[in-house]
Amino acid sequence: MSRTILVTGGGTGIGRAIARHFADRNDNVIVTGRRRGPIDELAAETGVRPLVCDHTDPEALLTLVAELPEHVDVLINNAGGNIVFDADGKTDLASYARDFRANLDANLVSAALTARALDDRLAPGGAVVHIGSIAADQGADSYGASKAGLATWNVSLADALGPRDITANVVSPGYIADTEFFRDQLSDERRATLIAATATGRPGSPADVAGAVAFLASPAARHITGQVINVNGGALKTR
Ligand code: NDP
Repeated sequence: MSRTILVTGGGTGIGRAIARHFADRNDNVIVTGRRRGPIDELAAETGVRPLVCDHTDPEALLTLVAELPEHVDVLINNAGGNIVFDADGKTDLASYARDFRANLDANLVSAALTARALDDRLAPGGAVVHIGSIAADQGADSYGASKAGLATWNVSLADALGPRDITANVVSPGYIADTEFFRDQLSDERRATLIAATATGRPGSPADVAGAVAFLASPAARHITGQVINVNGGALKTR
């Protein structure tokens, strides 16, 4: 049966791979982004529905919700990134405050606002999946803090949605290549260090993350909720 899937930030990188996965299965896929170009391009290739939305903006979210079908089966909160890569490099306290808040907005507040805005659209038997980060465990200043906060907030979301038969989980990637995440600021040396930290000896791909998301959104994962699933090639090991 075809399901309705909303992939935030679905025009590039990980979100694009997730959107493609569900579109290939003939689901009704809606992708969002702030720029029209990437989502329109994906729509032309795959038939997904592109809607412009800034997920940090409550007004934009209300406009988005008005465009959505009555029921959404799967919400994937993928939109985000480390705003430090776009920052002006100023280190005074006011600039630090601005950038810190911007990362919380981009990765934590955006997901919470989206889940809240869609709350009465989320259908029983559905799933919410957020894209976290290995940075939640390993650092990266305000970006890591924002992704750690996302996982902690998800604990409450799982409790709230569980009685409605909706799961809520985090997929937490390590280094994933072939996305716009690092802009052009990942040095060869840093890239080699990130790959050397894995047990698999390779960078992750957007498809690696899409596979974990697909599992969490599948009937096989109905008793998995409130969890963080790591997709990092063993760069962070757990018991
Ligand atoms: P990309 O930069 O390629 O993808 C991010 C997407 O999110 C873009 O399409 C962007 O489009 C969209 N986006 C960003 N902010 C907003 C917003 N406020 N509202 C709507 N759309 C937004 O990078 P990735 O694919 O790598 O990133 C996807 C997720 O994975 C992010 O949450 C990131 O933090 C996480 N992640 C990535 C890792 C990596 O190594 N690549 C590792 C761990 C986690 P637009 O600019 O048009 O809005």
